[in-house]
Amino acid sequence: MEDDSAVYKTLLESTQAIPWKINWSDLTFAYIGPQIEALLGWPQDSWKGIDDWASRIHEEDRERVVNFCVAQSKAGTDHEADYRALTKDGDYIWIRDVVHVVRNGDGDVDALIGFMFDINERKKTEQELVRLQKELEELSFKDGLTGVANRRMFDSIIDVEWVNARRNHQPLSVIMIDIDYFKQYNDHYGHIQGDDCLKQVATLLSKAATRARDFVGRFGGEEFVLVLPETDADAAKKVAERCIQMIRDAQIPHEKSGIGADLTVSLGVGTIIPLHNTEAMAFVEDVDRLLYKAKENGRNRAEFNQ
Ligand code: GH3
Ligand code: MG
Ligand code: MG
Repeated sequence: MEDDSAVYKTLLESTQAIPWKINWSDLTFAYIGPQIEALLGWPQDSWKGIDDWASRIHEEDRERVVNFCVAQSKAGTDHEADYRALTKDGDYIWIRDVVHVVRNGDGDVDALIGFMFDINERKKTEQELVRLQKELEELSFKDGLTGVANRRMFDSIIDVEWVNARRNHQPLSVIMIDIDYFKQYNDHYGHIQGDDCLKQVATLLSKAATRARDFVGRFGGEEFVLVLPETDADAAKKVAERCIQMIRDAQIPHEKSGIGADLTVSLGVGTIIPLHNTEAMAFVEDVDRLLYKAKENGRNRAEFNQ
């Protein structure tokens, strides 16, 4: 027997997992593996009672973990908890504590025994994955070239703002913007400079729409779209004029434009208070028709529905 217990002790104290035992009657440590010092820096004999454990849990985790473990133990249920444990150096290490409830002959809780596992690397990987996932979500709503929102984001936003405007009986304005003679621009300056030009136009349009909830997106190709909530026809007209003015002021050379020496845009501007049984996309198509009208009427101009 004595040989056996020596073997068990050697086994327990040479594993990566750190074994421990707590007496339920007075909540003191009956045992904790010496490996604890290598992991957290706190010596083996500094683990006397449950308070030594609780006080070395990150304060953001402490209440949740202590309450959970006490409740599970009282109920006699085996359980596990993840938390950040404080090291002697003041750092934190993610621990998974796996707990088994030991009962005496009467079925009452006698002791808790468990293992602490170092899950720091795994947690870091998990957190990195969450961060990457978030970044991916952001990217999937962003136009890769210009950095403004993409078509997918527009499709979501327009539905949300449509429902909002309808519920609150507020005007909603949409402006569609298309660069004039952009095919000629590409043909003359090349696609790389064409891409740069699109970036520049996207930046200018972002500055033209100034309210917090204003939305700027790339609708496709060399077309952009603004969604302006709680914006009536007069205010939308001002934004449209600002778009034209800012692009004019930027004086982006376009030698092959049919209009002048610089790049210009055409705009369709629509304002609506949505009624029930009306669709956002039908309105967007109306605005698109206004844009075509602006092209037909000579480009470098805006057409309005009001
Ligand atoms: P209009 O004045 O009637 O709008 O004439 P346009 O030449 O601008 O219109 P059209 O739709 O005929 O051509 C749009 C051009 O935009 C065609 C395409 O080469 C260019 N284009 C679309 N997407 C991109 C892009 O991502 N990068 C570049 N460089 N060009 C693009
Ligand atoms: Mg176009
Ligand atoms: Mg065009």
